[in-house]
Amino acid sequence: MTTNLLDYDAKGLANFCAEIGEKPFRAKQLLRWIHQFGKADFVDMSDLAKGLREKLSILAVIESPQIIRDHTAEDGTRKWLLSVGAGNGIETVFIPEAKRGTLCVSSQVGCALACTFCSTGKQGFNRNLTVAEIIGQVWLANNALKTDDSDQDSTSNRAVTNVVMMGMGEPLANFENVVTALDLMLDDHAYGLSRRRVTVSTSGLIPAMDRLRERCPVALAVSLHAPNDALRDQLVPINQKYPIKELLAACRRYLQAAPRDFVTFEYVMLDGVNDRVEHARELVKQVQDTPCKFNLIPFNAFSGSGYKRSSSESVRIFRDVLMQAGLVTTIRKTRGDDIAAACGQLAGQVKDKTRRTMQTTMAAVK
Ligand code: SAH
Ligand code: SF4
Repeated sequence: MTTNLLDYDAKGLANFCAEIGEKPFRAKQLLRWIHQFGKADFVDMSDLAKGLREKLSILAVIESPQIIRDHTAEDGTRKWLLSVGAGNGIETVFIPEAKRGTLCVSSQVGCALACTFCSTGKQGFNRNLTVAEIIGQVWLANNALKTDDSDQDSTSNRAVTNVVMMGMGEPLANFENVVTALDLMLDDHAYGLSRRRVTVSTSGLIPAMDRLRERCPVALAVSLHAPNDALRDQLVPINQKYPIKELLAACRRYLQAAPRDFVTFEYVMLDGVNDRVEHARELVKQVQDTPCKFNLIPFNAFSGSGYKRSSSESVRIFRDVLMQAGLVTTIRKTRGDDIAAACGQLAGQVKDKTRRTMQTTMAAVK
């Protein structure tokens, strides 16, 4: 069996080198060739001895998921549909902005947490992505976005400057693989991103939030979506296990180690469900002891969701209530709408648990 070197962070590559009788410093060279220079072919790795290159080409591969579709929206947002085998698809989205380029990365095929407004959640859970499939999204995007005048010999001219784990799946439910991929994003010999530029978004898996704080404290976003347990229990069913007060306490614990001094709360705006002034006022009270910012996300519709997007007016009023209480609040711009690349629309060509092929939002990009 050949080994996929995209599955390894620095430590894993060092172990691999030891196993094949090579010196540990080879791991650093490999890391740079694979992640800094984006190479997939050992022949290109010019400072490795010829014998070693030959040995590697027998024992190992550098294999990212396959690109099935590659679409660019009018606003420049780019979405890749990637195959991860057995008819399973995942999606990765690149969002260019004036001073940064953010890559939205998937962590699972489907998701078990079944939030009622989420297209990925509606598909049920299929499987966790491997490290190679997670970091492979960053590897692929950097390669695809490479411009002619940037030979990627340093991390400073990369297109991807920020990563958000906000694609398909719950990153903290695939903890070990996600943390290994995060290690690579942060590693100076790989992608060299600062902790502040890498964000994990979670629906609130408290024990895993505590573990992340210890293992790899990157920036944290928490999908709150409701001001009280009764409503959150319905929208984000994991709330029945990890209710709001405990979740907020976990956020405060996380902040002791976090690279930023606030948690970002994501709040999807659902017409008539969680978008009223009373909800905003209740929210202000709930979070008063937790340093935070709010990001209001206009609901992105998909067929059969049963929800409607709040009017721009309700979103503005909601924001004003939070702002008047001193909470920094932004309204997320909907990007890549015309290619179904917006939050919660990522679906891939995934089969649900009953093996029925779901009607996915990918239909919209045909
Ligand atoms: N599982 C993680 C990360 C992936 S979802 C989480 O839930 O945080 C990324 C964000 O998109 C979350 O805040 C999620 O609640 C939000 N989202 C899901 N479906 C959406 C939709 N249809 N419209 C807008 N936002 C949505
Ligand atoms: Fe899973 Fe996040 Fe979607 Fe909830 S919102 S179902 S946790 S991907």
